[in-house]
Amino acid sequence: MAWVKFFRRPGGNLGRSYQPGSMLSLAPTKGLLNEPGQNSCFLNSAVQVLWQLDIFRRSLRQLPTHYCLGDSCIFCALKGIFCQFQHSRERALPSDNLRNALAETFKDEQRFQLGFMDDAAECFENILERIHLHIVPNAETDSCTSKSCITHQKFAMTLYEQSVCRSCGASSDPLPFTELVHYVSTTALCQQVYDRREEKLHTDTFGELLQAASTSGDLRNCPSNCGQRIKIRRVLMNSPEIVTIGFVWDSEHSDLTEEVIRSLGPHLNLSGLFYRVTDEHAKKSDLHLVGMICYSSKHYCAFAFHTKSSKWVFFDDATVKEVGSLNKLSEMDT
Ligand SMILES: [Zn+2]
Ligand SMILES: [Zn+2]
Ligand SMILES: [Zn+2]
Repeated sequence: MAWVKFFRRPGGNLGRSYQPGSMLSLAPTKGLLNEPGQNSCFLNSAVQVLWQLDIFRRSLRQLPTHYCLGDSCIFCALKGIFCQFQHSRERALPSDNLRNALAETFKDEQRFQLGFMDDAAECFENILERIHLHIVPNAETDSCTSKSCITHQKFAMTLYEQSVCRSCGASSDPLPFTELVHYVSTTALCQQVYDRREEKLHTDTFGELLQAASTSGDLRNCPSNCGQRIKIRRVLMNSPEIVTIGFVWDSEHSDLTEEVIRSLGPHLNLSGLFYRVTDEHAKKSDLHLVGMICYSSKHYCAFAFHTKSSKWVFFDDATVKEVGSLNKLSEMDT
């Protein structure tokens, strides 16, 4: 189970590419069909958020070629839906082609199979990984530096983790890795909120709260085994344009929902989210919340910020509703 939040840099590249009156650079809103038994809400929610992410939508449109897999090509199927979002007169469109391509691609793993519910955050992550493979099929996923790879250029967080002992000074070898979604436990998040309230600590930024939550339960042994238990340090080395946070719930019937919603911040500073940030752009970046996928009562729905109207829009399969401001959004019972 996951609750995914998407942040992007304020303005994105809208200022440069958007011409007033040009409908091309702005996303219309349409629903996606989910017939009884299809259980496609996890996919529909991921697609809606991808479509509303201006940076992603425009980058995908500008890509000239890809390594095509024909009928089971996730890239073609996603582009097909995007094309229909742009040009169709229907209010709601089928997502069947993408659902089929996803099922075909992951049939060996028995993931995302037709008729079965699946995880929206993992679906989102896997679509991004597949797009990488369709653009640079031979590149290692973890060290992709291709300028045309939307996945790694726009979404990937390039990190290394290291544990440094305050007691004896020993440090572990830095372990580099990349992340498309940064997962945080809701239980750890709420524990941090609770501890801070108890100790009457100053209110941290949302990024700092997330960092505290993702490192608090993750204690390691000192690398030279001096007996200390130490926190892991994660260092961000690039400046991703879109940052995705996945909230992991410990149980399907969590009583933490309200607490989690209250702790959510509409801004995210990357220097708060990680122990250290090395890129100058990333140090200064203040990302704005532009999308959310929510899970409740065995069903996924999505919220996305619509750039043209500057309003939040709610997507529940074929249903699309304008919700207006972010405050109204938190009042909605989802
Ligand atoms: Zn293709
Ligand atoms: Zn890549
Ligand atoms: Zn030590």
